[in-house]
Amino acid sequence: MSLFKKPALLILAAAPLIAAAVDYTAEGKLWWTHIQFLADDKLQGRNIGTPEFQQAVDYVAGQFQKLGLKPAGTKGYLQPIQFESRTLVQDQSSLTLIRDGKEEPLALGAEATLSARADLAPKLEAPMVFVGYGLVIPEAHWNDLAGLDLKGKIAVYVNAPGPAEASGPVKSHLGSAAERWRVLHEAGAVGIATIAAGGRGGGSAGRGGSPNDSATPGGAAGAPGRGAPQPSISLADPELSETTGMGVSLSITPRGAEKLFAGSGHTFAEIQGLVHDNKPLPTFPLAGTLRSQAVLKHATLQSENVAGTVPGSGKLKDEYVILSAHLDHLGVGRPVNGDAIYNGAMDDASGIATILEVARLLKESKFKPKRSVIFLAVTAEEKGELGSRYYAAHPTVPFHQIVADINLDMFLPLYPLKVIEVQGLMESTLGETVKTAAAADGVEVQVDQEPAENRFIRSDQYSFIRRGVPALAFKFGYQPGSPDETTRKNWVRDRYHKPSDDLAQPVDTAAAAKFDRIILRLMETVANDSARPAWHQDSFFKRFATEP
Ligand SMILES: [Zn+2]
Repeated sequence: MSLFKKPALLILAAAPLIAAAVDYTAEGKLWWTHIQFLADDKLQGRNIGTPEFQQAVDYVAGQFQKLGLKPAGTKGYLQPIQFESRTLVQDQSSLTLIRDGKEEPLALGAEATLSARADLAPKLEAPMVFVGYGLVIPEAHWNDLAGLDLKGKIAVYVNAPGPAEASGPVKSHLGSAAERWRVLHEAGAVGIATIAAGGRGGGSAGRGGSPNDSATPGGAAGAPGRGAPQPSISLADPELSETTGMGVSLSITPRGAEKLFAGSGHTFAEIQGLVHDNKPLPTFPLAGTLRSQAVLKHATLQSENVAGTVPGSGKLKDEYVILSAHLDHLGVGRPVNGDAIYNGAMDDASGIATILEVARLLKESKFKPKRSVIFLAVTAEEKGELGSRYYAAHPTVPFHQIVADINLDMFLPLYPLKVIEVQGLMESTLGETVKTAAAADGVEVQVDQEPAENRFIRSDQYSFIRRGVPALAFKFGYQPGSPDETTRKNWVRDRYHKPSDDLAQPVDTAAAAKFDRIILRLMETVANDSARPAWHQDSFFKRFATEP
């Protein structure tokens, strides 16, 4: 890659100019201070609905006030949001296959799992249709639902990206749980049963679309208390429901799948082989009907987004650039090596710390932004990007005046900053802007090296993208084959959504400070550029943009 081919002299010549002006070590310490508070065991992993999450809210609002940001919530700095919580009452719920008048129970756990992510029907019996990957991708002339009658039926699909040839973003978006359900619901389906891909064909891309996990990275692995059913959290606003009409939602194990496929003329082993080879799948009705009986325990809770602003001046002051990060994490759960607190130091106390540092640097620099800058700490990202989805639907400023969202989620400053991986780099004019902002510090940018991970749709920026707002998100990048690559991949393996994402891990705080400065420069440029950020003509995401 060009970074290594570039004469070392060039980098050395450029760096000291900046380094002389900025004490990254000192700024890195300030950045770390916020993480020390938010990721302390005392905050118990910042799960929404807990008093400890409220402490985190108070902390951020207090910092905003201290920095002199103007309140930008609906109640001072806060934007209260109502949530619904649903928990499956396991011993009163059941799944039964009915064939030729004979009833055959599916074992909950070993063969299938009912998911409370939808407001499940108390009792529902319906025929089932296997719909392959369950994907409709017009760009790729791909339609798994062609010729199928899904009215009143349960759609059974393999949760894998499949062989359809479309760009990563297209497949990520259309393969998301919400989009898959949207087309199935439109086709008349009353529920879904998903089969985990497994093996090579599935890859990790399936995670982004796994409907029975939270929409966040790691999915079920992110539910720390696996074993006992975890409550499923959703926005109370019915207009923001992504499971409307879903009377049944279950995931099926390979053992359960063999049972389901019996009598259909196909075996699950055959399907699994095709998925493994990344081949198209047949679609066909399954024998008999499935009866689902579900008892849900409902509760409500409230949680808050926190928003503060540095107002712009002049004629662009009624336009807004958002810098966002999520304040919540997974809370307390299943212990790993005797530690049950999921502190979420990198995920995403680090992003909140960067928001606070960028706000501080912006205020101290006396830079006068033309557009207003909103600093937004959202709630419930770990429950499926809910706080940002709510904000994008109910923004505290007029929606069409939001010009961009710059999102920070787990950017992983684990080694010196040489290259930033930018999600959304090729999609909008923001790509060039961040490239210039990084180059001023001798830092390069690169596209996501692991596109199958679907990162562009796996955090809060996606809530804005889906409504047409250009956005970016970031990670510390690496050159393929470098020690940095190993460090980052090991981090994901060993600490991601685990109690060890805590204050005891090695973090390069000076590198984080350097990153913060680049984000500051990016924010300043976007705030002051006379042109509003725009999607590229050929970007898939341009379709979501709407006229005021
Ligand atoms: Zn997370």
